[in-house]
Amino acid sequence: MNKSKVNLLVLSFHTCPLSKLGTESAGGMNVYILKLSHALEKLGFSIDIFTKNHSECSEDITIINSNIRVIHLNTVPEHVTKEDLYEHVVRFQKQLLNYIHKNKLTYNIIHSHYWLSALIGIEISQALDIKNVVTFHTLAEIKNQTYAQEKESLLRSNKEQEIINTTDSIIVSTYHELDVLIQHHQAESTKVNVVPPGVDLSLFNPLNKKESIKRLGIEDRPIILYVGRIDPIKGLPILIESMNYLKSNKNPKLLVIGDNTAQNDTTKISLELIKKYELENNVTFTGPIDQTQLPLYYNAASLCIIPSHYESFGLVALEAMACKTTVIGTKVPGLESIIQDQVNGILVEVNSPIKLASAIDKLLSNNDLNSRIAENGYNKSKDMTWDLFALKTSIIYQNLIR
Ligand code: UDP
Repeated sequence: MNKSKVNLLVLSFHTCPLSKLGTESAGGMNVYILKLSHALEKLGFSIDIFTKNHSECSEDITIINSNIRVIHLNTVPEHVTKEDLYEHVVRFQKQLLNYIHKNKLTYNIIHSHYWLSALIGIEISQALDIKNVVTFHTLAEIKNQTYAQEKESLLRSNKEQEIINTTDSIIVSTYHELDVLIQHHQAESTKVNVVPPGVDLSLFNPLNKKESIKRLGIEDRPIILYVGRIDPIKGLPILIESMNYLKSNKNPKLLVIGDNTAQNDTTKISLELIKKYELENNVTFTGPIDQTQLPLYYNAASLCIIPSHYESFGLVALEAMACKTTVIGTKVPGLESIIQDQVNGILVEVNSPIKLASAIDKLLSNNDLNSRIAENGYNKSKDMTWDLFALKTSIIYQNLIR
């Protein structure tokens, strides 16, 4: 650790920021942690990210560069599911404290991600006498309100309430999350900061559509793109069903980017719908794609669809907009915080394949409208960089550092 720099301890207990994106437990939060770390480094921070051991990273310490390390603590057996990780929190916490003392590490501030890490962060902050900042990414209360099929445990809700009462500071991505924290959890408003995440404009930028299709070696048809984890909350089956209601004579094809190998219900339902509606020639699963390759896909696409039941933010929307591709999303808080309906994107009702199909048809049949919305989306994305996000976050840290 460098003594002249601000030393930041990041906790991401349940998922490693280096995990393959698009798989069941690696998505926006992993991107958020890594992009924030890189942008903070430019502001003079030195960052250690602590996570549990996992098979994708074989080494204990992964050096990303001279100021950013990911440290895997060997605390959790590989087979333990996300639902059972709570049982391993105290062990991780003890091992982390031992590791810090043994290696004589010093930190100025902690940033904990998700409720499991926040529990650890609060204990460690007290032991080290430094402040703890929490980003929940999702809250049980919001998930339960918006997606009734999958109830979060009472344990999680209760622990989130304890964290809200105890932690020094909370960062949220939207004003909706701020409202829930204040109205439902009685959070002190001065503790909560709304800081929307960003997009990497050096990676995600506009390219020629035809050229992108050619470079990908895919059929020259209008591409409708889905990018994300294949998780019930992401609503992929709604998008697949909407493909059945399309009236367009443009022969569009849906590309689904994300890990479809996990035999979960969402994958099964999606495959059943493809069979039922005989969409085999109109839907292709690519599997997860490395983020460095995603700009080509966004650029090849005529539309990027986010059919989610809930989004706490929605990085995919910003990435598509930065590539000048129109986004059709659902009316959920995260997407509503980015997309102004009919101006820089389109918002449709949640869980409505027919309305989604009609929005897709409208944009595929009107190139001028599609280009105008895409242009406005691009302009919006330019204001939302990780550098700006890191600057605002660093001010929150600095105000807490004694
Ligand atoms: N992503 C990726 N490869 C994939 C699927 C997703 O790199 O195959 C990335 C995508 O670029 C985005 C993130 O995963 O940055 C998903 O974030 P988002 O906020 O849209 O969804 P979340 O996972 O938080 O629900």
